[in-house]
Amino acid sequence: MRALILSDIHSNLEALTAVMESAPEHEVVWNLGDVVGYGASPNEVIDRVRGLGQTFVRGNHDRACSGLTGLEDFNPIASRAAKWTRCVLSAEHTDWLKHIPQGPVMPDGPLVSCVHGSLLDEDEYVMTVRDAWLPLREAQTRINFFGHTHLQGGFATNGEEWFRLSPKYGSRNGAEAYELPLRANGRYLINPGSVGQPRDGDWRAAFALYDDTAMTVAFCRVPYDVRQAQSRILDAGLPDRLAFRLREGR
Ligand code: ZN
Repeated sequence: MRALILSDIHSNLEALTAVMESAPEHEVVWNLGDVVGYGASPNEVIDRVRGLGQTFVRGNHDRACSGLTGLEDFNPIASRAAKWTRCVLSAEHTDWLKHIPQGPVMPDGPLVSCVHGSLLDEDEYVMTVRDAWLPLREAQTRINFFGHTHLQGGFATNGEEWFRLSPKYGSRNGAEAYELPLRANGRYLINPGSVGQPRDGDWRAAFALYDDTAMTVAFCRVPYDVRQAQSRILDAGLPDRLAFRLREGR
């Protein structure tokens, strides 16, 4: 079985469209949260992702934009975008967001978990090997997919050594993939990167493909119509920074 893994789409319809057009063949889609927030197409993006599969984990922006939590923990720009999203979301989509389950969700037997932040705390940012150590030691599952940081890559351990996983690409232009073989004795925390607001210096939409027969994860990047996504953000009256950062991948 091959699972397409999406995270942090953040209401970016252009990025999601490019990902779905270029995605390799897959049987299921696993979504790691933050479907909305920041971008200008929340209703269109929800319409699209609801049709893609059943596996969803909620993100902090999904909670905030549906009114499940307040905006106290958000910076002023994120807060403005969340308020705007609350205003434009249809009642049906707001309700759908409210009912996305909290992670971990186990979509594929005893081997795999999907979370938004960390296995132990849905809002925690796993940025370093130090952050990864405890959740990966405590994890019930060997292969764990997470999002939230918008940084493609992750962490692995064989019980003794710890590794940082970072895909290597040749350019910043076309579509590219970087394949990671999963070792039988390895425990993994893997971030597919952000579809709609990458922050690893690469503006291209990020996603991953997990193959449980070949035991591989392919990290993928694909260019998208970033100017269109930016225009929508500016036309909506959302903060300029949310448009400009897309081209920088920051
Ligand atoms: Zn996010």
